[in-house]
Amino acid sequence: MRGRKAETISLTQFSAGDCFADARNDKTTMRIGIGYDIHRLAKGLKLILGGVEIPHTHGLDGHSDADVVVHAIMDALLGAVALGDIGQHFPNTDPKYKGASSIELLKHVCQIVSGSKFQISNLDCMVIAEAPKLAPHIEKMRGNIACACGIKVDQVSVKATTNEGVGFIGRGEGIAAQAVALLEQDCHPREGGDPVNAI
Ligand SMILES: [Zn+2]
Repeated sequence: MRGRKAETISLTQFSAGDCFADARNDKTTMRIGIGYDIHRLAKGLKLILGGVEIPHTHGLDGHSDADVVVHAIMDALLGAVALGDIGQHFPNTDPKYKGASSIELLKHVCQIVSGSKFQISNLDCMVIAEAPKLAPHIEKMRGNIACACGIKVDQVSVKATTNEGVGFIGRGEGIAAQAVALLEQDCHPREGGDPVNAI
């Protein structure tokens, strides 16, 4: 398969190894993106992280549901395909996104990713929150994110830490999240799929 010209071949001839061979020999077939988000905590609001409503005295303030976990993941995905950020795709001046479910917005971002001929290899997210304890909710968050992205749960990692009482987060004034997304070019075979141009 190496050294082939840009010719029409059947995708069924491809294997995952071929994708990586292309990365070495020809074009870049893997992309990485990072995302970061922070929202302020306020009384009387729902706390939604990774699409899970978590009982707490405070919730995150934002135009949408202020789900920092999903926001960081969306920015990582958009960064990996170099297609801007969530502020551009879902402006907080647009009333359409007032109170929007971030999990629903994530589905849209995943359509952008697949439309760019990439598929998600894995997502890794770190939530930084002084309270509440997030461990009991991590698995549900992973499931929600995986479901929205159409990938397996073992492709999604969500981890939580505190800020050791330091600063804005340590004082319980807000919650932040960081995320990394790794994408690979969508060159895997599909059963009976159409031939495509080799890359
Ligand atoms: Zn946000």
